[in-house]
Amino acid sequence: MMTVNIANKSYYRDGAAAAVIQDLAFEVKTGEFLAIVGPSGAGKSTMLNLIAGVDTKFDGRISHSNSNTGSPKLGIMFQEPRLMPWLTLLENVCLVSDSPNSTLTAVRAEAMLNTVGIAASSAQYPSQLSGGMQRRVALARALMSEPDVLLLDEPLVSLDQPAAMELRQLLLTVWQKHKFTIVYVTHQLEEAITLADRILFLSATPTKIIREECIDLPRPRQLLDVDALRISLCDREGLLSGRLG
Ligand code: ADP
Repeated sequence: MMTVNIANKSYYRDGAAAAVIQDLAFEVKTGEFLAIVGPSGAGKSTMLNLIAGVDTKFDGRISHSNSNTGSPKLGIMFQEPRLMPWLTLLENVCLVSDSPNSTLTAVRAEAMLNTVGIAASSAQYPSQLSGGMQRRVALARALMSEPDVLLLDEPLVSLDQPAAMELRQLLLTVWQKHKFTIVYVTHQLEEAITLADRILFLSATPTKIIREECIDLPRPRQLLDVDALRISLCDREGLLSGRLG
């Protein structure tokens, strides 16, 4: 179980502290697929950075109750694939390892590229790939740490629909096999409903949770399921703009 408790996260603007997140608290069960939906600028990336430990300047605590070491392994995938253009796909994936040049790392990276379906392209460079394939590399790289918790920050943004659908299916397949916990930030309600066990809707800043929905539908989910569910999600526009109180 991961417990997120952010009492306050502020940034300094014009010499004064402006609260982006205040009293945001929620739990994520081990192995759960949690989606977080909120308007642009709500503080979703800020929150993921706090969970990832990239930013430690906040009041509050992120804790993991059933991790053996107390600090679980985290994987992260950003909006942009952030691949190094001068490295091959294999080298890009190896890069996140403590020993990027070891044979063992190369073997593991090759296995991860295989998991995401692009091992045959491992000697290619990012510029030779489509956007969808680049995201696959980014996913392979995020999986290198064998994460307990995978954090995804709008990872499929700007992909065309077929590529995004393929990648969503791939992510579900990998998640169902490896059973890690997922926190998936998106601004697309349909994406959240198609993927997640539960959705938290965030308000505009200072961010708070305005609604929680459990998605109790079997996978793979069809668009018809999504349409049926959307009826129960009253005031869709309000939820997506973070204005429901
Ligand atoms: P979201 O991911 O929901 O779009 P962000 O977490 O990126 O939102 O940003 C939330 C708010 O915090 C925005 O108003 C943004 O301008 C501000 N912000 C984000 N990062 C910084 C920073 N490093 N310094 C100052 N303000 C920031």
